Amino acid sequence: MSDRPLIFDLNLTELEEIFQDWGEPAYRAKQVWQGLYQLLLDEPEKFTTLPRPLRLRLGEQYDFSHLQPATTLASSDLETQKTLFQLPEKQAVEAVIMRYAKRRTLCISTQAGCAMGCPFCATGQMGFQRNLTGGEIIEQVLFYARQLKKQDDQVTNIVLMGMGEPFHNYEATFQAVDRLNHPDGFNFGARRFTISTVGLVPAIRRFTTERRQVNLAVSLHAADDELRSSLIPINRKYPLDILMDACEEYIGVTNRRITFEWALIRGVNDSLEQAQKLASRLKSFLRSGAALCHVNIIPLNPTHRYAGQATYRHQALAFQAELERAGIPCTIRVRRGIDIQAGCGQLAIESKERLAGG
Ligand code: SAH
Ligand code: SF4
Repeated sequence: MSDRPLIFDLNLTELEEIFQDWGEPAYRAKQVWQGLYQLLLDEPEKFTTLPRPLRLRLGEQYDFSHLQPATTLASSDLETQKTLFQLPEKQAVEAVIMRYAKRRTLCISTQAGCAMGCPFCATGQMGFQRNLTGGEIIEQVLFYARQLKKQDDQVTNIVLMGMGEPFHNYEATFQAVDRLNHPDGFNFGARRFTISTVGLVPAIRRFTTERRQVNLAVSLHAADDELRSSLIPINRKYPLDILMDACEEYIGVTNRRITFEWALIRGVNDSLEQAQKLASRLKSFLRSGAALCHVNIIPLNPTHRYAGQATYRHQALAFQAELERAGIPCTIRVRRGIDIQAGCGQLAIESKERLAGG
């Protein structure tokens, strides 16, 4: 493995300092920045506005990629494409692109594996491997942005819902968000990002004080502590009352809506009683006609190492109706790309098992 730093781990100021050290004119840093984030160049040789010796020097001192695409799968309707990337030390991370009528939504990873250990989640099942750097998070976006550009198309939304817990890798996650948001570079609007967290309360509080425009999603999956702790072990540290307080504080300070995620698992968390408990927890999110919450129901994507199954459709509809009766807006999401293991971490685990002969 090369020990050169990844070029996407630099912000514009750092790049400017490097060029200054190299005795280059200040505008060179801007040219490189625009090459990386506007022209989406992936190799130093392609920076044709730079003199050749400078291109060579860049290539000698910086890596232009840490993520090696290893496997790419497309769903049968070709609307969903998933890529498994290999990091220099061979761990795997995944990113998925979902094409809708008008949106091109990219789901990216923030960690290889995850330390949170949610038993129903393929990433949780593999344990924590390592944090991605900001640059490695960015690379996933640029990989698809380059592909879409060839078709005169572009990424419209980015969700941090792939492998890992973004709030457990807070610095790198927001380095990536900020760098992609830079107006002279990729210029991707903060409001078009959504971060999903398992419910790390101190990080939610920090996020609240930063008053970012990025959308927040919180994985609930259960409305009482006993059930939630069985699905999300970190609930023992940050139980529901404390978590919901942090969420209320967030909407109070920012006046922004939170999306609550609920993976419906047959016979586990799909009862009308759970729907009622959830509705009562979310009552305080309803403000004179406006709901500062939205519940996203996703039928469980079954994994090998967890016995749970997806809820039957009629039960999902009844769960949704119960929430709506209480005035809580709620959408049942269609599972995209089930035929390509597009659930979080699933392709990585399958390929690992294949390699291990499992
Ligand atoms: N760590 C963050 C973000 C990544 S997981 C979090 O937990 O929120 C993104 C979403 O996928 C979470 O809501 C998670 O609970 C859900 N998820 C994980 N495994 C799933 C599965 N097998 N079926 C359905 N949803 C799943
Ligand atoms: Fe980690 Fe999220 Fe999976 Fe839980 S659901 S193990 S927090 S990636």
